[in-house]
This record gives sequence, structure tokens and C-alpha cells, in this order.
Amino acid sequence: MAKSYDLIIVGAGMVGALSAILLAKSSLRIALVDKHDGEYRLSTPPAYDARVSAISSQSKSLLETADVWQGIPKDRVASYDNMVVWDGLGDGYIDFNADTTAMPELGHLVENAVLNQQLMAQVRQSKNIDLYLGDTLGSHDLNEFGVRAELASGHVLEAQAMVAADGAMSKLRTENAFDTIEWDYGHTAIVATLEIGQPHENTAWQSFGEEGILAFLPLPSVDQKHLVSIVWSVPPKEAEALMALDVDAFCRRLHYAIGKRFDVLGVTQTRQSIPLRQRHAKAYVKPGIVLIGDAAHTIHPLAGQGANLGFSDVKGLVDVLSKAHRRGEPLGSTKVLRRYERARMLDNMAMSAGMEAFKRLFSTQQPVFVQLRNMGMKRFNRDVSLKKKLIARAAGLPSFS
Ligand SMILES: Cc1cc2nc3c(=O)[nH]c(=O)nc-3n(C[C@H](O)[C@H](O)[C@H](O)COP(=O)(O)OP(=O)(O)OC[C@H]3O[C@@H](n4cnc5c(N)ncnc54)[C@H](O)[C@@H]3O)c2cc1C
Repeated sequence: MAKSYDLIIVGAGMVGALSAILLAKSSLRIALVDKHDGEYRLSTPPAYDARVSAISSQSKSLLETADVWQGIPKDRVASYDNMVVWDGLGDGYIDFNADTTAMPELGHLVENAVLNQQLMAQVRQSKNIDLYLGDTLGSHDLNEFGVRAELASGHVLEAQAMVAADGAMSKLRTENAFDTIEWDYGHTAIVATLEIGQPHENTAWQSFGEEGILAFLPLPSVDQKHLVSIVWSVPPKEAEALMALDVDAFCRRLHYAIGKRFDVLGVTQTRQSIPLRQRHAKAYVKPGIVLIGDAAHTIHPLAGQGANLGFSDVKGLVDVLSKAHRRGEPLGSTKVLRRYERARMLDNMAMSAGMEAFKRLFSTQQPVFVQLRNMGMKRFNRDVSLKKKLIARAAGLPSFS
């Protein structure tokens, strides 16, 4: 016999799990399906999870509303108060500082496994959410009057609508024929946790240079060890070569790539490499189904904004669906779901375009462009009001005065 819900959410990653918690708080009954077993095994510091996310102020507030942020152990989260970005091919640099804004810090860094674990803990506490873990969607029928889905386990679920939060390679997006605009960035990201010889000064350091785009992101110190998480974006062939280096040689390359600013003493966790692709669905909704998070869009991680955009999608979707639910409107109707699409698409497209422009700006090594770029960076660095606007945008806040 079919079990009945208001929504079926497929994908209990950061975005799907957060949307389930917040929608359940608005009294919607949710079936949350994920192929993962829902157990996130944390490594023991100094061996942090190699996947780490910069979390904006707006995302943190949303995670607080969901009672998730409060559960994150203090020794597994680091704040950053400054950000320094420089051109490895010149002398241009930009520094962003929380002191120039009304914010106590620019953002926080949290391991993905820690965040997922806390999200799953809250999901399990909600009486409005039924979890179907280690399971996937088999066949499904949907239209604006409702959804009927059979899971691989044989469970049959019915709901008013389906939310696709099944990540960048979304099967639901493909199966429901959503068109996308996509291309390779020509970059693979290498992520790892490093021990460095000098304090990171609660600063996110980012170099754009011949050695690719390299970020050193602060992590909590352990036993007076200074630790950072890196995201190093380089062409795929270069990434293969870097992954093949032994740890000592890899650390030496990093020391040069970060402009010799830090001694790199070791890698505390296995390195991982992730190919990067820009992807944007041309529409986020069809009758009975809506895309959110990486299922709707993926961007270059150079500004650490992918999950933050996904959390903004969650906020938009929860606003729309909880209001519609109170008014008794059918949740799968295109009229209702389009309100979410209107609220989110421009913002997501603007961020995608911004990341593409940034990546292109720093891809060229032609001397004239490098000189112009460095002049531009210096001028930008003197313009406090422009920097405040950019900080506010990254934090998901209105402009500071
Ligand atoms: C190197 C790198 C660094 C990044 N750094 C940052 C950063 O600092 N800040 C930031 O904001 N963003 C960052 N991002 C982006 C961020 O990681 C993603 O935007 C975010 O993880 C997307 O979350 P999601 O829940 O949409 O998708 P996912 O995290 O991919 O979750 C999808 C879920 O769906 C499940 N699933 C998939 N297929 C199925 C299926 N068929 N059936 C059932 N379940 C399924 C999966 O098991 C998974 O749990 C970074 C990305 C990269 C690559």
C-alpha cells in the first residue's frame, strides 16, 4: 500500500537534508530518500575531512533556524576574519576584512562530514520526516496533481510534489528531461588538509597564478599544529601529475604555489581530486517536480559559494511551499513552483556568470592583460565601499553602509 506525504525529497546531502528539516518545521510531511546510509564517520583531527565548506553568514543563520549549527562541536569549526587574494603573476592583491563591516567574521569553515552528520541528527529527530536510506527511486509518475514513486526497496510513496536534491549528477534532472547549459571549466580541484609551519591568522589565503587557483583555508589548530584545508584548481593533466607526487614533493610544490608564504610540513589526510564542471538547468520546475542545490546548478569552487547558493535555494523553496501549504494550494502546481524559480534563478545565474568571469580573468598569462588585471586589483583594493558590497554579496546580506 502507498504511504502518503506532502513532499518526496530525493537526496539527503546538505541541501536536501536542510530543506527537509525546515519544511517539516512548517508541518509538511516529508519522505527523504538517499542512496547513502546516512552515517558520516568523522576523522580524528588533525586528519580533518578533505571536503570542507566556507559557510556564509546567511547560511549559518538558516542552519541555526534548523537547530543544526548549535550542534556542531566548537573544535570542528573555524571562523575567518580576513581574506587575502593575490595575483601570483604580479603585485596586485585585494584584502577583505570583517572590521570594515558590521559582521564579527567573514564566514566559517566546516568539514562537510561534520555538517552532514549534524543535519542527519536533526532529520532523525523530526517526527514529520520518514527516512528511506540506502534506497533509490525506481519508477515514478508525476504531474501537477501529484507524484507516485516506487523505491528500489519496494516501498511505494505518494506526495503532492517531488524535490530533486540529488546533487550535480542528478538522475531526476535527466529522467525528467530538464535541459542544462554546461561546460567543463578545464580544471580539476585537489583537496587536502595540510599542516603548515606558521599560524594562518584566521585568514583565507587565495593565490591566482601560473600554478592555478590555490586557497589555504583556516582550520582549528590541534596540539599547537597549524592546519589548513586546501582547494587547488589546475588543468586536469596537471592535477594528475600533482596527485602522483609523493607527499614531500607535493608539499614542496604547494610551498612555491602559495608564494612561499607558508612552510608546508605535511598532508594529514588522503588527497582527493574532483573534476569541475559548470552546469545550470534552464528551468528549475516542471509540473510536480522542482530542482534545488547542485541538481539545479554547479559552479567553480573558487569563491566557496556552491553550497551557500544551495542553502539560498532552500530558503526560497521553504518560503514558497510553506505559504502555499497554509493557503491550501496544491504544492506540485506550476503556478506555485514557479514562484520559487522566479525567486532564485537570477541570483544563481549572476553568481555563475561571476565565477566564469573570474576564472577567465585569471586564466590569461598575456603580459598586457596581467598588467591591466594587477592595476585593476590595486584600484579595487583602495575602494572600501566596493569591497563592502562584495563582502555583503558573498555573505548573502544586504549592503553595509
Ligand atoms: C572542491 C570543492 C570545494 C567546495 N567548497 C565549497 C565552499 O567552500 N562553500 C560552498 O558553499 N560550497 C562549496 N562547494 C560546493 C558544495 O560542495 C556543493 O554545492 C554542495 O555540496 C551541494 O550540496 P547538495 O546537497 O546539493 O548535493 P550533494 O552534496 O551532492 O548531495 C546529493 C545527495 O543526493 C544523494 N543522491 C544522489 N543520487 C541519488 C539517487 N539516485 N538516489 C538517492 N540519492 C541520491 C547523494 O547520496 C547525496 O547525499 C565546493 C565544491 C567543490 C567541488
